[in-house]
Amino acid sequence: MNDFPIPLLCPACQTPLPVTPQAVQLGCDGCGARYPQTLGIPDLRYPHPAPDPAEEAVVARLLEAYDRLEYPDLVALRLRLEPGAEAASEDLMAHITEYVLTQPERGRRMIGMYRTALAETFGLPESCFAFDLGCGSGASLFTLAETYEYVVGLEPSLASLLLARKALETHDITNVRLVQGYGQHIPLPAEQFDYANALNVLEHVFEAEAVLQEIHRILRPGGCFAADSRNRFDLFLPEPHVQIRWVGLLPRRWAAPYVRWRTGLTYDHTHLLSYGDLRRALRNAFGEKFRITFAYPSAYGASERADAWVRTLAGIPLAGRLALQVYPSHLAVARK
Ligand SMILES: [Zn+2]
Repeated sequence: MNDFPIPLLCPACQTPLPVTPQAVQLGCDGCGARYPQTLGIPDLRYPHPAPDPAEEAVVARLLEAYDRLEYPDLVALRLRLEPGAEAASEDLMAHITEYVLTQPERGRRMIGMYRTALAETFGLPESCFAFDLGCGSGASLFTLAETYEYVVGLEPSLASLLLARKALETHDITNVRLVQGYGQHIPLPAEQFDYANALNVLEHVFEAEAVLQEIHRILRPGGCFAADSRNRFDLFLPEPHVQIRWVGLLPRRWAAPYVRWRTGLTYDHTHLLSYGDLRRALRNAFGEKFRITFAYPSAYGASERADAWVRTLAGIPLAGRLALQVYPSHLAVARK
């Protein structure tokens, strides 16, 4: 997109970068840094990580197949290329593929939940500019693109961004810009966005406090943030990424070996936040202007009767507060 109203900034020196969608790299006039660009997606990860041959191989396979395959086949290819995919059972792979393909519906329900909670707590933000932290392969981009004039999706994984690009292209959505980058150094100017969300993302963020401060920086005064966060100390449901229970109760360093032993999957990209972790990170960035509550079960496909039950629980002061500690998923809203 050429006429995008918000410039991208060099993450090293904050100089606006020229936007040339066809270029294979972007050069910064301020510090001379050069950033690769793939199919119009600039790589603004900062600090730039060491080359990862495994990830580059996945990206190369996806690029080779990009024009030839339809979106669902590209998703299936991407999942088969995941490390550990050969060791995982057919059922688990089928479950994960289905999960990715049904993302847009889930994104719609989740954003509906965010908007309900924001309307109840702070009032709805303006519908101008939205930011999607960790947009992945595009779960929330469809709904955001309908609701907001312009949307920026930031995501560290180019493989996921290529899937998002394919999905947007398939649906002729042109008001979304995709950027490869880290939440700790968002390559965008301060005070531009009316709304930011993080859908199924905070559990993959290893420096939640720094990331939420960056979100706060790019929001306009009065701008709002919403996110769900899988609870580390959830006592009720299997861990959704690997479908086994009580992983979060283990000491953090035991979680990955345990998951590998049980399922064959890697678990290095997941870092579930407890209620206390989430509360600390939000307070650090937004002061007192935030609220953490129970994520509505209906946003995850349960009946609305379950929502009513959870709302009743939330209304009981001490029991509600205690239940939040062990409830599967938190819903957080905040305002700048
Ligand atoms: Zn620069």
